Amino acid sequence: MWVSMVDKANIALLTYGLTILLLCVCAVFVLHFTLGKVVREKTHIYYFMLVFVALSLGFVGYISRAFIPMWISISIGNFMTLLTAYAFRSALLWRRGCRIHIYRDPIALSNLILLTVINTVVFYWLLDAFHYRITIILTNVCIVLFGARKYVVINPQHITQGEKQTRAGLLLAGIIVLFVLIAAPFFQDPWYYSTYLFTLCSSFTMLLLGVALNLVLSDIIETHYQNSITDTLTGLYNRRYFMTQFLIAMNQSRRYHNPISVLMCDIDHFKNINDQYGHDNGDLALQSFSEMLKTSVRDVDVVARYGGEEFIVLMPRTPMEDAQQIAERLRVNTERLLIASKKKVFGFTISIGLSSGEGDSDIKDYISLADDALYRAKNNGRNRVFSVDVESILSEKSQAAHL
Ligand code: GH3
Ligand code: MG
Ligand code: MG
Repeated sequence: MWVSMVDKANIALLTYGLTILLLCVCAVFVLHFTLGKVVREKTHIYYFMLVFVALSLGFVGYISRAFIPMWISISIGNFMTLLTAYAFRSALLWRRGCRIHIYRDPIALSNLILLTVINTVVFYWLLDAFHYRITIILTNVCIVLFGARKYVVINPQHITQGEKQTRAGLLLAGIIVLFVLIAAPFFQDPWYYSTYLFTLCSSFTMLLLGVALNLVLSDIIETHYQNSITDTLTGLYNRRYFMTQFLIAMNQSRRYHNPISVLMCDIDHFKNINDQYGHDNGDLALQSFSEMLKTSVRDVDVVARYGGEEFIVLMPRTPMEDAQQIAERLRVNTERLLIASKKKVFGFTISIGLSSGEGDSDIKDYISLADDALYRAKNNGRNRVFSVDVESILSEKSQAAHL
């Protein structure tokens, strides 16, 4: 037999290392070509790539102990394995806007250096204890991975699917590492242990790739979704989103007999503002007004830009009297709002049309009646609120039609 058992073992180890290396190269390519081109702020993508570069180097370092001095293999294996976890943590931090590189992160840096030195010097040179080494490195990896879970969510009020899955994925990745750790004492033969390690390491690689891809793709989808429902200038919802929310609220109002109110607000003589102070200051006025509008209503109310200088507010579970008070408050708040242009400080007023009902008619009726009311508020001198009760107007109309 020209290939001895030792050679066979080495060939197998080399194959494991090569396979993990190829998996990681694929992961880096997938991240680069699918995400690198579409994501503008790329640093977290680079850190996700570093996860796989470090992981492959760590595994190759571990596997290559048959060919290189043991202490080099231990140092590379330990450093790169822990770097994998820190790279994932850094990717999450950069994604959240926390712009700190690993080499500038004192905790990560000292942990990486200390662990490598301790495992190589103390647990190899002074006392050759494989189980201590593996326990120390894998415990560190687990702590970093479990700890990184708290950096996944950007906005706790709105946790995306990708973020939920990433938290679960990191938990699973930590559990895989724990499995490697728990099983270590049961393998007397390092050869079998390598096989076991290879199986878990390839699952770990695929899991991390899935998690990273899932998170970044879900971010991209979320950004596009937010853009599709938001008005660029004011940051309010756009008309399309408003209509979908209105339909949902109307169905609920109809089902539970809740009152519902709609406010149509239009800035008075806005054309004059543009003419007098310029389009830029007109835009500024729209932005300041939108901010005021958003902060003056409840969280459950939907505020949207309906057209150029027209805004619409949907108030579920709000009867006409309450809606009138809110409309009046908005009118007064607008009177007090001051816009500082370069030339001078200016203000403006709004007219509001209000329609209220119990969801018994169509959303088009609510909008067209709020529009009619707005028209009347304008015709009656502007800077005022005009309200209509949808049901009574519609029943008047149908009675008139029967006459
Ligand atoms: P009224 O009191 O009758 O509502 O008078 P108005 O001047 O506000 O109404 P009109 O409909 O005549 O003019 C609306 C103006 O709003 C015209 C348009 O140029 C301006 N406008 C629409 N969208 C924008 C925008 O995004 N930015 C700026 N600066 N102006 C806008
Ligand atoms: Mg106007
Ligand atoms: Mg208008």
